[in-house]
Amino acid sequence: MSFSSTVKDELCRLDNLSECCMISELAAVVSLNGTAAAVPAGGYNIRIITENAAFARWIYSCIRQLCNISPEVTIRKSRKLRKRASYMLFVTPASGSAKLIRRIGAEVVRKNTQGQPELVLPEPSDSKDRCCKKAYLRGAFLAGGSVSDPEKTYHLELTSRTMEQAMVLKHMLESFGLNARIISRKGGYVTYLKEGENIVDFLNIVGAHRALMELENVRILKGMRNSVNRIVNCETANLEKTVNASVRQVENIKYIADCMGLDSLPQGLREIAELRLEYSDHNLTELGRLLTPPLGKSGVNHRLRKLDQIAEKHRQRCDPSGR
Ligand SMILES: [Zn+2]
Repeated sequence: MSFSSTVKDELCRLDNLSECCMISELAAVVSLNGTAAAVPAGGYNIRIITENAAFARWIYSCIRQLCNISPEVTIRKSRKLRKRASYMLFVTPASGSAKLIRRIGAEVVRKNTQGQPELVLPEPSDSKDRCCKKAYLRGAFLAGGSVSDPEKTYHLELTSRTMEQAMVLKHMLESFGLNARIISRKGGYVTYLKEGENIVDFLNIVGAHRALMELENVRILKGMRNSVNRIVNCETANLEKTVNASVRQVENIKYIADCMGLDSLPQGLREIAELRLEYSDHNLTELGRLLTPPLGKSGVNHRLRKLDQIAEKHRQRCDPSGR
């Protein structure tokens, strides 16, 4: 199951909602997902189509409970492979579409160029209860929302037909401190959120607490994976530095041995030079432990630097052009 479906499934199963919130949620669903068609004899047919069975059930029982209307339900099975069934809920003037429109506080306006009727909700005021704003966002997500699999990316979006609807959603999200943006896509509008933090907040607001835990787990794992990678990268870099230094030291010691002989070195330097030649893969601490008495890391480093300097000085004297 996709993460979107997980969230929707959970949202359709929330219970103990107060009536004010149910109305607000249904209003979002009907205005964002429903269409109105004028009937010659007067009134409108309201139609809502969804591919999510649990959501279809939720709309049905919500309309029944709030308006005492039983919508007609038809299931359309596409013959195309892999295309899922879709559920159509239908309310005619005879079964009470006017009552449904009134109950959700909408009106039908002929506003687009073809004179098609459009279900329009009044601009929600800022004084609208927070519980009902949350419910509206829940309805908007159920009606036309989706959220990416958090393993891949953090993206949550709410689709709508008109710019006005998209703006209402943006303002509502902003009133909860979420940073939403709008883009137009395929003749409609998308209000979207980025960043894990915003999406966690959204899931919390709409009440998808189980999905929220799931997302937090993914975020923690992702964070851990990143820091493990950082540590591994850092260790690789350190190892490379150690190896490069060792290669340089061995080169210099061999040069000294060739030109001057290691016997010409003071005892402390000769000892470390011999050890370095023998144990080129040891780090400084390990080399220091092989000395009697043992020498600390910085002591070893000091002696090896001295050897580098001796080789360097000798090179400049014998072969000023460098080699
Ligand atoms: Zn409410």
